[in-house]
Amino acid sequence: MREFEELETHITTLLSEMVSIPSVNPGEGTVDNIRGEERMASYLFNYFKHHSYSFNVKKEEILTDRPNIYIETSNDPNKKTLLFETHTDTVSVDHMSISPFEPFIKDGKFYGRGSCDAKGQLVAMISGIEMALEENDGVLPINVKLAATVDEEHLHRGVDRLVELGIKADGAVAGEPTELKIVSATKGSIRFKIRTTGKSAHTANPQDGINAIYIMSDVIQVIQKKIVPLLQNRNHPLCGNATTSVTIIGGGSQVNIVPDECVIDVDRRLLPGEQWEEAYQEIQDMIMDNLDQDLHSAIIFDYPYLIDPSLETSQASSIVSAFSAMMQSHNEDLILCQENRHRFFYRAFAW
Ligand SMILES: [Zn+2]
Repeated sequence: MREFEELETHITTLLSEMVSIPSVNPGEGTVDNIRGEERMASYLFNYFKHHSYSFNVKKEEILTDRPNIYIETSNDPNKKTLLFETHTDTVSVDHMSISPFEPFIKDGKFYGRGSCDAKGQLVAMISGIEMALEENDGVLPINVKLAATVDEEHLHRGVDRLVELGIKADGAVAGEPTELKIVSATKGSIRFKIRTTGKSAHTANPQDGINAIYIMSDVIQVIQKKIVPLLQNRNHPLCGNATTSVTIIGGGSQVNIVPDECVIDVDRRLLPGEQWEEAYQEIQDMIMDNLDQDLHSAIIFDYPYLIDPSLETSQASSIVSAFSAMMQSHNEDLILCQENRHRFFYRAFAW
């Protein structure tokens, strides 16, 4: 084990170097000189290529100038595999009150864009691997892999690629800011539109039309008065209760015309154990059961435009219990649930 001061210097130097490298997610916007993960990927690639321990290092371009980096200590099929994963992109630097790429430490805290999300996690993973190698004379009893992926802050195409590659591990840890808590469960979500259709008419003779907004108002009442309370009683020990919300509404075109269409967007958060198909069907059934039969043909449920399943790793599983024991030995204990973090990554593994 290295002396603590030496280790601390190594960790803060690594983190300072990484935070100094701009890697803002370009999103769908224009690319300027602080955006893109290429510089971070090159930094990591060179770091491991020239390391005193030998690593297999690969770079895979996921988007133009935006590569994932894959590192492994070994790839022995007779050994178990532990995978670390986190991302190299950061959110934008808008509204920051400090210089984003000139990191500094103040009162024991590290400042600079990405130091918390997720370059700190990346450095923790790297230095953890290095410490393990040092303690084991360079040969680990397991294969350790590290995937540093792009685009987590926007469309997570870097981690999608990891899933597509069919990468397998006996255990995996995704690095995200959790205030040192282990996150072993995550809520999922579905988002979809509900449409109501009516018949337009001049407001001089509204009786000649069918007001789609009025029908939607009935639909919303069912969601608010029946479905929301129902979900409040459905609980998960880590994630709290299931929820649903109507978040966007649109309808009507002119003040003197009875509207013939109204549309809402619905967001339904799924607890671990809930299947999205059942949750979607339940909302449809509840609305139809609570409204008059003659309105049914005027209500259309669009297929969800977003489907993210909920996920959970058992607290009794070896990876969660091993990490819990380690956290407890440092007086950090709680396991909590976090919504929708690295959901596609979690999906890849049967922990
Ligand atoms: Zn993150």
